[in-house]
Amino acid sequence: MNKYIERVLEETRAKNPDQVLFQQTVEEVLKSVEPLIDAHPEYEAACILERMVEAERAIEFRVVWMDDQLKYHVNRGYRVQFNASLGPYKGGLRFSSKVNLDTIKFLGFEQVYKDALTGLPIGGCKGGSDFDPIGKSDGEVMRFCQAFMTELYRHIGPDVDSPAGDVGVGGREIGYLYGQYRRIMGLSGLGALTGKDVKTGGSILRPEATGFGAVYYLCEALKHDGEEIKGKRLAISGYGNVGWGIMKKAAELGAKVTYFAGPDGYIHDPDGVCTDEKLNFILEMRAKDPMHCKPYAEKFGCEFVEGQKAWGVKDVDIYMPAATQNDVNMDWAKKIAESGVKYYIEVANMPTTNDALAFLKSQKNLVVAPSKAVNACGVAVSELEMAQNAQRLYWTAEEVDAKMHGIMVNIYNSSVKAAEKYGLGYDLVAGANIAGFERVADAMLCQGIF
Ligand code: GLU
Repeated sequence: MNKYIERVLEETRAKNPDQVLFQQTVEEVLKSVEPLIDAHPEYEAACILERMVEAERAIEFRVVWMDDQLKYHVNRGYRVQFNASLGPYKGGLRFSSKVNLDTIKFLGFEQVYKDALTGLPIGGCKGGSDFDPIGKSDGEVMRFCQAFMTELYRHIGPDVDSPAGDVGVGGREIGYLYGQYRRIMGLSGLGALTGKDVKTGGSILRPEATGFGAVYYLCEALKHDGEEIKGKRLAISGYGNVGWGIMKKAAELGAKVTYFAGPDGYIHDPDGVCTDEKLNFILEMRAKDPMHCKPYAEKFGCEFVEGQKAWGVKDVDIYMPAATQNDVNMDWAKKIAESGVKYYIEVANMPTTNDALAFLKSQKNLVVAPSKAVNACGVAVSELEMAQNAQRLYWTAEEVDAKMHGIMVNIYNSSVKAAEKYGLGYDLVAGANIAGFERVADAMLCQGIF
């Protein structure tokens, strides 16, 4: 391995000994950009790697709120502003009991290259809290969001940092956060948050953007092999905004999601989640109880396999992990390889462990695409929301959709080109990392010391 990369990886491990997710993503990205680092000695001279692995700013704060029984609660809030060399910090907020600084740093680091890949002027960051909205009343969620924003407001703004949603943060939470931001600031500050409901300044198609974009990317990968999406069967994990968007767009294009998994097990619906009735049922089921997908099987009379993931099933063409990080480890990766499926398209942020990803990439007949590229349409439409907000106007669904499509085709093509340029052949994972990394590194060089 390139000595410079090796040294920075060692230093990163030593400086962040407990942050295993952060170490995982740094290792994945740095190893895959090796040909780029070899070709650019000026990066080492300017300490580009050392700077890349150090957040520009990491904010941790106390969030105190009161539940419906007037009991006090104390949570921890985070915003890790990783790199703004391409534009204002942009990235979501994750609310989940599992969130800690490690989670937010890993997501923030990934976000830098994802945002760069969109080709839009946005830097990368992430935030969140160990607050778990599941099982909380609307009033409790609102009071938590207000308390969270009472600290966060001083660190964000349309030209500074614009948070959006992620796991546990949807339109409802963004609405409460935005309301509190306006209240404190005494101005509209529309672009200070994205993922807003269309009724309160949001962009049409933002909720669907990540899932739709993932399918647009998939179409490009299929086209490369002379295939088309029509008639394809998909197995996915997750049925949140992203998974739901995949189901909807796949159905529109004549494909179908025949397997989907939730925290309690997986569903096998051979007819696919294709009708409005099924798509609407998933929305209702999720709103009532996001931890169980079994009611879908009961309602539509299909198979539910408790406590299992669908990875390894053979009667599909494409796998798309769209749930959470490290969903697919080495054991699952082996099952995926044995299944003979031809496409492994990551959607959730870092859904594959590093060893599993390397193993899957080494399979001759398997096309592997990375989440940074595949799920970038969510943040891209967030940036389009900021652009609409700045112009004080709304674009139509057709306008937004056309831009989304163009951005995803561009991400796919620039990844393919970057891999070819550095002699890696058809490597969508390294190509995406290199294309994103190069854009950020070059902007940093232009700006001198920062
Ligand atoms: N959380 C999303 C992501 O992982 C969206 C971020 C945004 O819209 O700013 O990219």
